[in-house]
Amino acid sequence: MDAIDKVLWNTRLHYLGMAARTTEPVLKLAVLTCMDARVDVSGLLGLRPGDAHVIRNAGGRVTDDVLRSLLISQAILSTREIMLIHHTDCALGRMTQAQLAERITAATGQFVTEDLGTFSDPIQSIVQDIERLKEAPRLANRDKIRGFMYDLQANNLKEIVA
Ligand code: ZN
Repeated sequence: MDAIDKVLWNTRLHYLGMAARTTEPVLKLAVLTCMDARVDVSGLLGLRPGDAHVIRNAGGRVTDDVLRSLLISQAILSTREIMLIHHTDCALGRMTQAQLAERITAATGQFVTEDLGTFSDPIQSIVQDIERLKEAPRLANRDKIRGFMYDLQANNLKEIVA
C-alpha cells in the first residue's frame, strides 16, 4: 500500500471540531520549523487545530517564500508572534552546500544553483534567521520574534534568541 493510501485511511479518524469555523489563528502565533519528520510541532507545543500557523521547510530557514507566508500571516490573518525552531541533527547542518548539491546532482542529473540553506553552526543559523525576520520591513509585528533549538535526544526546547 502506498503511503498516501495509508494516510488517507487515517483521515477518517480525524476530528476538527470548532477549529473548522476559525480562520485567524487563536494564539495569533506563527511557527517556522524544519520539515524533519521527527519534529512533532503540534505535540511538542501542545497546539490544537486553529491555534497557529505552522510553516515548514528544509532546515526551518527564513527564505523568500517563508517571508511571503509570514507577510500574509501577519497582515491578513492577524498573527502577532513568530517562533522559530531549529533542531539538533538537522540534515542541513550535517552536510555542506557542496556535499548536498553533489548528492542531488548524482540523484537527479541536475545541477543545483540555488542556496540549499545548509549551515555549519546550528546556533548561528538561528541567530541569522532571527535577524532576517527582524529586518524584514514588510512584517508589521517584529517585537515578538524568538528563536529556539529543539534537542531531539533530550526532547528539550531551549531559547537561543529573544
Ligand atoms: Zn532539519
